[in-house]
Amino acid sequence: VIEINNVAKQYGKTDVLKDINETVRDGQVICLIGPSGAGKSTLLRCLNRLENPTSGEIKFDGQDITVLSEKELGSIRENMGMVFQSFNLFPNMTVLENLKLAPIKVKHWDDSAAEKVAYDLLERVGLTEKAQAYPASLSGGQQQRVAIARALAMNPKVMLFDEPTSALDPEMVGEVLSVMRELADDGMTMVVVTHEMGFAKQVADEVWFMADGYIQERGTAEELFDHPKTERAKDFIGKII
Ligand code: ATP
Ligand code: MG
Repeated sequence: VIEINNVAKQYGKTDVLKDINETVRDGQVICLIGPSGAGKSTLLRCLNRLENPTSGEIKFDGQDITVLSEKELGSIRENMGMVFQSFNLFPNMTVLENLKLAPIKVKHWDDSAAEKVAYDLLERVGLTEKAQAYPASLSGGQQQRVAIARALAMNPKVMLFDEPTSALDPEMVGEVLSVMRELADDGMTMVVVTHEMGFAKQVADEVWFMADGYIQERGTAEELFDHPKTERAKDFIGKII
């Protein structure tokens, strides 16, 4: 579904992405790992054009999205849900209102259709009883599960996650990872920036190790974590274990 060809990104004179060439296939789960400043978030944000690559092409379902106007990007963004480290829920809206907002505004669903989907998703993430709650009254893990449900409300083809558990207290990491694991089991295509090795070993089809703006190594989680080839990867993996 996603093809990344010769993608580079500069901020001023800094080369953040240098020459990225990767493919994400339908139903694949990719875990993207690497040291701080490697360019992981930048690459993820290029995939749905929250950032514009300086050069190269990114194809989504065969269509080069780097040439699309902001207006044309709408349907691409609907098809790529994104979940961030900070949960980014609308604080002045209930959980249910958070989930209904985009389907009503963007897809023009009527209220009852949006509500039905919202409740289905809340059930999926185990939070039906929190429908009328405000985000501030939820734990971090619950807020992140709502954020995942909200992204799913648009029925995206691909889900992008940028360190979805790194702002959570340790006891809440598991509940978020288990929602993500179920999503993967259901066949969702996912690109996940995460250093959660257990998760990567269980669900990732491929792990990409990024450093200095390049994908330095790719392989299964076992290959990457247990038998890294490059010194950079060895060094990094030694630090996160
Ligand atoms: P982390 O693990 O800390 O999240 P990362 O791998 O996600 O790191 P990026 O956030 O993609 O790294 O950043 C890569 C480099 O690009 C960093 O050196 C960062 O300072 C720089 N950078 C990111 N966004 C901008 C921006 N908007 N303007 C200028 N430089 C930026
Ligand atoms: Mg980042």
